[in-house]
Amino acid sequence: MSPFSIRLTFHGDLPFFLGSKASTVERQLSEKTSVKDVIEACGVPHTEVDLIIVNGVPVDFACVVDRESSIEVYPVGTRGITPFAENRLQLTEIRSFVADGHLGKLVRDLRLLGVDVVYDPAAEDRQLVTIASSENRALLTRDRRLLMHAIVRHGYYLRSQEPMEQTLEILHRFDLGSALAPFTRCLRCNTLLKPAKKAEVFDQLEPLTKIYYEQFRRCSGCGQVYWSGSHFAKLQKRIETIRSRLTGEDTT
Ligand SMILES: [Zn+2]
Repeated sequence: MSPFSIRLTFHGDLPFFLGSKASTVERQLSEKTSVKDVIEACGVPHTEVDLIIVNGVPVDFACVVDRESSIEVYPVGTRGITPFAENRLQLTEIRSFVADGHLGKLVRDLRLLGVDVVYDPAAEDRQLVTIASSENRALLTRDRRLLMHAIVRHGYYLRSQEPMEQTLEILHRFDLGSALAPFTRCLRCNTLLKPAKKAEVFDQLEPLTKIYYEQFRRCSGCGQVYWSGSHFAKLQKRIETIRSRLTGEDTT
C-alpha cells in the first residue's frame, strides 16, 4: 500500500491533548488504520471524542482510514452547535464511576453529593480498567493511557488538578446536576446510607453526641454512623458552594 496523508482537525477543547496550540495535525499512514487508532496516536483518548466526520460523513471508532482523508473530531461539549446529533459516540448520562488512585478528594466530593464512585487508592491500572468495563462505569483519571484501553467504553480525563474544579467538570460532563442526592452515600466506602435508630448506634457515639442528636444514618457496608454534627455544617457549605458554582456556570 502506498503511503497516504490525512489531516485531522480537533475542535472544542481537544487541542489541549495535542500538546500544541495548533488544532490541526497532518499524518502519514502506510497501512489501513482505524480512525480510533489514528486519533489516539495524536494523544486524544477515544473517551473524549463524541463525533468524528471523515470526508464529510459521520463515522464510528471502527471506521477504517485507507486513503487520503480529512477528519474532523469533536468533543462532547460541542453538542447543540454541531450537526449529526444521532451520530454521537459518547453517553452523557452516566451515573456510576470508578476513579483512579490519585483522586481521593474528588471522590469525597462526589460521594458527598450522592454520586456512585468506586475508589481504592491501591487499585492497579488493570483493576481500574476491568471495573470500568465489567460494571459499565465511567473511568475518571488524569492518566490518558488508561482511557486509551480498548475495553474502556466511558471515561473522562480531568483537566484540572484542583478537587472543586474537578467536581464541577464531572457534574457538567455527565450532566449530573439534577441527579444529586447529598448525604445519602457513605464517604468512606460508597454504600448507600440507611436511617438508624439511636438505640442501634448508641454504642458507637461519643458522650455529647448521645445527648444532643436524635437522627442518625448508618452505612450498611462499613458500619460508619453519620449525624448532623459539627462537621455537617462544613460539608453542607461545600455542597452549597458546588451547587451555586454549577448553577452560575450553567446560566452563562
Ligand atoms: Zn461505608
